[in-house]
Amino acid sequence: MNWNSPTHPEFLTTDGRRLPINRVFCIAKNYEEHAKEMGGEVDRKAPFHFQKSFDALTFGPEVRYPTQTDDLHHEVELVAVLGQGGRHLSLKDAEATIFGYAVGLDFTRRDRQAEAKEKGRPWEIAKNFDDAGVIGVVTPKTETGFMEHAAISLDVNGETRQSGDIDQMAYNTVELIAFLSTLQELKAGDLVFTGTPSGVGAVVRGDHLVGKIDGLQDLQMTIV
Ligand code: MN
Repeated sequence: MNWNSPTHPEFLTTDGRRLPINRVFCIAKNYEEHAKEMGGEVDRKAPFHFQKSFDALTFGPEVRYPTQTDDLHHEVELVAVLGQGGRHLSLKDAEATIFGYAVGLDFTRRDRQAEAKEKGRPWEIAKNFDDAGVIGVVTPKTETGFMEHAAISLDVNGETRQSGDIDQMAYNTVELIAFLSTLQELKAGDLVFTGTPSGVGAVVRGDHLVGKIDGLQDLQMTIV
């Protein structure tokens, strides 16, 4: 037998650091308009989430079109990066765990997700595969402050497909972190993909995507 211990990938920061990624939490249906376009609604009682494996992440600029789908969808998202953890965090303590923010893409096998929903199965096949998540360069919170308002958008081949503002999120980053901390102990290097605004749609090989959030570095990628 011959294998190496799994190595956590490292995210890059705007000030040149490389820090290890721990887990990848992804929030679903956090923008009303997106929940509606998916035929659902925001659950105001509690957020809903799933995880991607850390080795499903890439930094681009190439994103491999996955197997087992004919309907790969883009979801541009604000990503909160934790610099420390904790459990049962108050909102104040949850805010203190945030190290910084980045632009992220949550790629989804939409056809397989529809099938999973129909059969009452988990979303694993739809959400967790090679290059299923893309994360940009992380800007420390010391530069951004707590991010409450910022335009968020995604262009595909120069055309704007998604646009909104992070203030449209039903649950902000602090509320999401506090919620997740009630389910397990959070740790430094955990990422929280915070959900996507409306306008999700399919991409094909050759498409060039640019994800943007005001105050953060653009995230560019090509589907190959
Ligand atoms: Mn998503």
